[in-house]
Amino acid sequence: MTEPTPITRTVRAGIDQDPNHGAVVAPIYLSTTYTFEDFGVPRAHDYSRRGNPTRTVLAGALATLEGGAGAVVTASGMGAISTVLHALLKPGDLLLAPHDCYGGSWRLFDALASKGNFELKLVDLTAPDAADVIARERPTLLWIETPSNPLLRVSDIAALSAAGHAVGATVVADNTFLSPIWQRPLELGVDLVVHSTTKYLNGHSDVVGGVVVAATPELHTDLLWWANCLGVTGGAFDAYLGLRGLRTLHLRMAAHEANAARVVELLGQHPAVSAVHYPGLAAHPGHDLARRQQSGFGGIVTFELHGGELQVRTFLDALTLFCPAESLGGVESLVSHPATMTHASMPPQVQAAAGITPTMLRLSVGIEDGADLVADLSRALDLISRG
Ligand code: PLP
Repeated sequence: MTEPTPITRTVRAGIDQDPNHGAVVAPIYLSTTYTFEDFGVPRAHDYSRRGNPTRTVLAGALATLEGGAGAVVTASGMGAISTVLHALLKPGDLLLAPHDCYGGSWRLFDALASKGNFELKLVDLTAPDAADVIARERPTLLWIETPSNPLLRVSDIAALSAAGHAVGATVVADNTFLSPIWQRPLELGVDLVVHSTTKYLNGHSDVVGGVVVAATPELHTDLLWWANCLGVTGGAFDAYLGLRGLRTLHLRMAAHEANAARVVELLGQHPAVSAVHYPGLAAHPGHDLARRQQSGFGGIVTFELHGGELQVRTFLDALTLFCPAESLGGVESLVSHPATMTHASMPPQVQAAAGITPTMLRLSVGIEDGADLVADLSRALDLISRG
């Protein structure tokens, strides 16, 4: 018999494993603590901060999908990022990170660096000289986020990993925007993958969660230790919901992308739109690289309007099927204004350096009927054009 694929293994993770009742779905273990079998003989789990049976099933499924040796499930994406920073950096070490990473990642990097926990340098990892910069700066930790948030810039995971490893760096990729369905950074050479599972992996906007997937058992053990030590591991009920979301990931991602393609087509030809940022477009600077290292272009579309705040307000007010909300990756469509929402923690000059403009909007294209989404956007854009 052939080995089931990672998708099949994920759909079936924890299914029909209950020896007591024959429950088909993995139970939610809410117990915070577990009995010892005998004096000095703990079971697989002793205390739920350190290990929980429901969380273990989710971690196994996520490690399978990313192709890693193991995963640590945390209470948020920032919890996962925090675990990596604490595990791998000490005062004097350098963290090299992209200048246009997620605003919350930037805030944590900056806050910990300001306290002297490590040195921080922000650079453009999509620039042609990125490998030279890595060779010169010799980081301890190299942070990659591709496609980046919100501009969807694409950086070369294999080339950056090779450059990082040549100077002894540990290389991390934030894979939140694509999920392992479209991109598997461990196969391209990174050591760790982080996700905000809040987004596509859970996919239903009802859990805040995170994960770090490690390439090696050694890194996995170290990160498990730190996540328990910091107290950032995820809860059992969240793990259950995350597992339920994960089972339909491959179906949802296909629907998100098909709708995103229709939305991009509309935006590209509408006179109210001054720019569209989507790696699926042949004119996008990262298009060729995205074709090589991704197997899909994803469901996030960023664009800019002609005009100013009035046009942004008019457009947002007119939409009925895109909720004005932060986050992304849920089944429902959302629209966010990065300058005042997701990236508000970045001062204006940092936003400008990252390419975030006042009329930029980011769509998380959901899995509703694509024709309805296009009609909703089209009506809102027409209103500005007439305005
Ligand atoms: N990484 C990326 C790319 C994100 O977009 C986010 C949240 O928006 C995070 C990390 C942080 O995740 P969380 O909100 O689950 O803490």
